[in-house]
Amino acid sequence: MSGVESVAVVMLLPACNMHCTFCVTEEVFESIPERQAWHLVEQLHQRGVKTIVLGGGEPFAWEGDLLGLCRHARSLGMTVQIGTNGIDVPDGFEHLDEVDRWVIPLEAAEATMHDAMRLYRGQHHSIIMDRLDALKSAGKSVTISTVVTTANMADIDNLAAWVEAYDRGTEHVHAWHLYQFLPLGRGGAVNAARLTVPAEDYKAVCQRVKARPGMRPIVFKRANMYRSQVVRFWWYAGGKVECGSVGNGDS
Ligand code: SF4
Repeated sequence: MSGVESVAVVMLLPACNMHCTFCVTEEVFESIPERQAWHLVEQLHQRGVKTIVLGGGEPFAWEGDLLGLCRHARSLGMTVQIGTNGIDVPDGFEHLDEVDRWVIPLEAAEATMHDAMRLYRGQHHSIIMDRLDALKSAGKSVTISTVVTTANMADIDNLAAWVEAYDRGTEHVHAWHLYQFLPLGRGGAVNAARLTVPAEDYKAVCQRVKARPGMRPIVFKRANMYRSQVVRFWWYAGGKVECGSVGNGDS
């Protein structure tokens, strides 16, 4: 391993219980065995990584002890985040000491649009609203993650108003990440023709949202999540841990 980065995104497995239209996850990696996951956390700590984001696929579908892995990372002084679609989080998840921050996806303020993009029995939006309510009540730190496609482009200003209102009074929203749709992976590659947003339109909506006077959370423009100076992706394939920038992603 070489290089310096402060945030490591560990893709524990490719499997997921959803079928999002824009999913960038490839099926080219494998579920990381638990022992290798623990070893990877230790290596990341030795590299000076301060923050670890555990994702997938869906991390709660991982066969290993996810919360045990979180405890291990925290015992080494890391800030631990879980990026999840929220469906299979354990009861009382919002109070778990093992997790410093939850990364929660929300594509639109309004249910029909969100549920058309994130396919799960037509009810994912209501699950996410429940999870976000619980996190707000607990005062737990949250990052909201949104993929900007042609399907929700026109609604991003409404979503911005929703994020402001959600954060108001508690200021528990750490950040809002606006990802540009990438034509990669099991969803993105298939739906590239209908979901790709022109780069200048994506840039304009990000600038508009960032400039809102009421937007207290940090808004991150993520035109290509795989091209970051500070974030590196890690996964398991062919019996070993790999890192870099390939067409894989978290929730
Ligand atoms: S975007 Fe995330 S939640 Fe949706 S299918 Fe892909 S891994 Fe699962």
